[in-house]
Amino acid sequence: PEPAAFSRDALADVQEHYYADPPRIERGWRQHLVDVNGRAYLDMVNNVAAIGHAHPRLTEAVSRQLALLNTNSRFNYRAIAEFSRRLADLAPDPLDTVFLVNSGSEAVDLALRLVQVATGREEMLCVAEAYHGWTMASDAVSTSTADNPNAMATRPAWVRPVPAPHRDPDALAKALAMVGEPAGFIAEAFYGNAGGIPLPDGYLAALYAEVRAKGGLCVADEVQVGYGRLGRHFWGFEQQGVVPDVITIAKAMGNGHPLGAVITTREIAETYRRVGYFFSSAGGSPVSCVTGMTVLDVIEEEGLQANAARVGDRLRDLMEALAAEHPIIGAVHGLGLYMGVELNRPDGSPATEETSAICERMLELGVVVQPTGDHLNILKIKPPMVLTEDSAAFFAAALARTLAEGW
Ligand code: PMP
Repeated sequence: PEPAAFSRDALADVQEHYYADPPRIERGWRQHLVDVNGRAYLDMVNNVAAIGHAHPRLTEAVSRQLALLNTNSRFNYRAIAEFSRRLADLAPDPLDTVFLVNSGSEAVDLALRLVQVATGREEMLCVAEAYHGWTMASDAVSTSTADNPNAMATRPAWVRPVPAPHRDPDALAKALAMVGEPAGFIAEAFYGNAGGIPLPDGYLAALYAEVRAKGGLCVADEVQVGYGRLGRHFWGFEQQGVVPDVITIAKAMGNGHPLGAVITTREIAETYRRVGYFFSSAGGSPVSCVTGMTVLDVIEEEGLQANAARVGDRLRDLMEALAAEHPIIGAVHGLGLYMGVELNRPDGSPATEETSAICERMLELGVVVQPTGDHLNILKIKPPMVLTEDSAAFFAAALARTLAEGW
C-alpha cells in the first residue's frame, strides 16, 4: 500500500495547479517519464532535467561522491574550487566570482542583495510578466499575473516594474524614462516566463546603458534560458549582445538536484562583506559540485547545445507548418529548445481555456506540455536538451491530432 501522504487525493491537491488528474510518475529516462502503470510520456516541459532524466553518468558520479564525502562548504575540497572555476570560465569577463546556492530563488535573492549592497540603494527595476522566484525578495520582483493575479498592484515600494516589451511598442522608451537612481535592473535576457519571447533588438543594450549611467547594476536571470538551451547561445544575454554585472543560474545546472549560483565580478562580490559573511550549508556541497561538473561534462561531450539548435530548428519548422493549418496558433516564439506556441481565438484574444484543454488532451496522448504566459495561452516547450528529432515529430503529431479534433 502507498503511504497516506501519497494517496491519490493528497497528490491531486498538490498538483491540481497543473492537471485535473495528474499522472503518478515513477521513473524517468532521457526525455521520457514513466508512470506507476508503466505508461511512458514524452516530457516537453522539463528544462530542469537538461541532460535527460536518470543520466547514468550523473547517477554514478553522484553515488561515488555521496559515498566519499558530502558536507557543508566550510571546508576546501577540490570539487568546489573546480566547479566554481568552470562556471567563472563560462561567464564573460569581468565576471569571475561565484556564489553557490541551492535554487534559482536563492540565486535571485542573493543577486538582489549584492546589487543593493554594492550600490547602497534600494530601488529595483524589473519587467512586467516576469517570474524570478518564491523567496520574499525574488517574489517582490516577480510580476507575472499567471502566478499571482494581484502581482502588479502589490509590489513593494522598492520595486518598479517596466512595461512588458512585447505588449507595447513604446515599452523601451517608457522603461528608459522610469530609470531614476536605481540599485539595479533585473530581467530574463530572453523572455522565458512570458512564453519564450525574444526581447526587441537593442532592448537590453539601451536599458543596461541607462541603468549604468545612473549608477545602477544589471542582473540577467538565466535560470531558465541559460546553459545552452537556446542552441545558438550558451547564455540568453548573448542574444542581446550585452554583458550583465550579475548572472543568476539554477535549474539545468543540477539536472534536478538543488543547485543554483550567482556569478559576478570580484568587486561586487566583495561588497557582501559589508553585510556579513556568505555561508550556505548545502550550497556548494561536494555532491552539488560533482553534480554540477558532471552536468557540464555531459552538455559538452554529448553536444547538447548543438542538439538544442538542430532539434529546436526542426521543432520550429513543424510548429510553423501546424500554424499554417490551424488559425488557433497565433505565433511560434522562441529559440532552440525554448519555445512558446501561442494560442489565440479568431478575434485575437488569448485562448486560455482551450490551451488548458489541449494540454489535458496531449497528456492523454502521452505528451507532457503545459501553459505559460500571463494569459496561460502559450504552450511552453522546454524539454530535456537530449530531445531527438523523432520525439519532436511525435510531439508535433500529437498536437496536430489534438488540433484536428476540434480546435
Ligand atoms: N528565475 C526564473 C527565470 C525562473 O523561471 C525560476 C523558476 N521557474 C526561478 C528564478 C526560481 O527558481 P527555483 O524554482 O529554482 O527557486
